[in-house]
Amino acid sequence: MSGDPENPGQPERAAVAAFADDFLIGLREWLAIPSIGADPAHHGDVAASAHWLADALRRDGWPDVRVWDEGPALPAVYACRPAADPEAPTVLVYGHHDVQPVDPVEQWHHPPFEATVIGEELVGRGASDDKGQVAMHLLGVRAHLAATGAAQPSVTVKLFVEGEEESGSPHLTRLLDEHRDDLACDLVVFTDTPLYGRDAPTVCTGQRGVYGAEVVFTGGRSDVHSGRAGGSVPNPATAIARLVAALHDEDGRVQLRDFYADVTEPTAAERADYAALPFDEAEWLANAGGARGLAGEPGWSTLERVWVRPTAEVNGIEGGYTGPGLKTIVPARASVKLSFRLVPDQRPERVADALREFVARHTPAGLHAEVIARGDGVPPYAVDVSHPAVEAVRDAVQAAFDQPVRFSRTGGSGPAALLHEWLGVPVVYLGATLPDDRIHAPNERVVVPLLLRGAEAAARLWRLLPERLS
Ligand SMILES: [Zn+2]
Repeated sequence: MSGDPENPGQPERAAVAAFADDFLIGLREWLAIPSIGADPAHHGDVAASAHWLADALRRDGWPDVRVWDEGPALPAVYACRPAADPEAPTVLVYGHHDVQPVDPVEQWHHPPFEATVIGEELVGRGASDDKGQVAMHLLGVRAHLAATGAAQPSVTVKLFVEGEEESGSPHLTRLLDEHRDDLACDLVVFTDTPLYGRDAPTVCTGQRGVYGAEVVFTGGRSDVHSGRAGGSVPNPATAIARLVAALHDEDGRVQLRDFYADVTEPTAAERADYAALPFDEAEWLANAGGARGLAGEPGWSTLERVWVRPTAEVNGIEGGYTGPGLKTIVPARASVKLSFRLVPDQRPERVADALREFVARHTPAGLHAEVIARGDGVPPYAVDVSHPAVEAVRDAVQAAFDQPVRFSRTGGSGPAALLHEWLGVPVVYLGATLPDDRIHAPNERVVVPLLLRGAEAAARLWRLLPERLS
């Protein structure tokens, strides 16, 4: 490959190009398996998807491939391809092969599990999130071997592709615990995040965490006539409204005690990178559900508000009578669902404690308060951008995309912190999808040329890492 006259000095690019047709055929086959983890009726398909991947890895010459299907986790795939040099670093690529449900199915222009090529795009459920990006890494290893002409990669590459990410990875810690030795590595490469934009490729360096809970205020056993008791007993709906109003100050800062105490701010270099990214307010608002204007904490840009600042959001409020006409009552009960997006080094359990304290402080006499947590939450994660592996990823992406690459983050959440904590190694991000790939929505797509660039970046990264991590 290294002798390709059209790509002198670009053996990884030439190798990716040579395998591109084959890559697309394989990916479309995989996307035809409806591995919807949330739907028990599709759990057989999740298993079939795991076995499809395992077979593809074996066909590619991976010597150690296993499907972890002993339960209770939905089947995950593990594979290892050792480096020739036993001293070479070990890298674990993390991704997932379960996909989101497809409703409303009538909004799809093509059947969601018959992946359709439209120009440069491949449209189908899982094309972007996350089968496309996992397949991209398989192609990356293949291209790396072809480009170097070696039988074994420059780093030991392990692959860990779980089947429950879209369900919140409920058994991930169990898998990490049971397979601790298999999964041991020097670095995790996380492949479930997008580039900032098609013309602004970026290296993601972190994701926010999340914690959710419902607060319920209860007065009497039942609603009561407002002429009979109004003015003489506390109103739970009023109390919930006061609690919600007290959650932020005038500047939008969250008022839980010590909420910002653990927040680590991004470096000046990261902020400079964020500021240099193209930003179109109208487009941002259009993609924010057609919002009518920006809002948020003063002193931070919109991207920073979403990437590196924590939030408290009211997801829904319920209480009293909301049907037609009037019903003059004091309701017995009112509630609010809240979610907090967290940034390093906040901890979901500390936010949970602070919320309980906040609720206790805002519960009027005569009402009973209950805080119902929605799980343990997901901790945030960010990698130190001065880590040599981060620099190596940036260099690899820069070379593959032929342009300068900046750092970005994402506002969503994922299991990066869990992987970091259980495996005790840094997590870097290498993805090549786009924020507007309509993941979790009808007509999910991936831009194929970007996936190919991503595979090239991965191939280049495997070549770079031994030297950078030594
Ligand atoms: Zn995903």
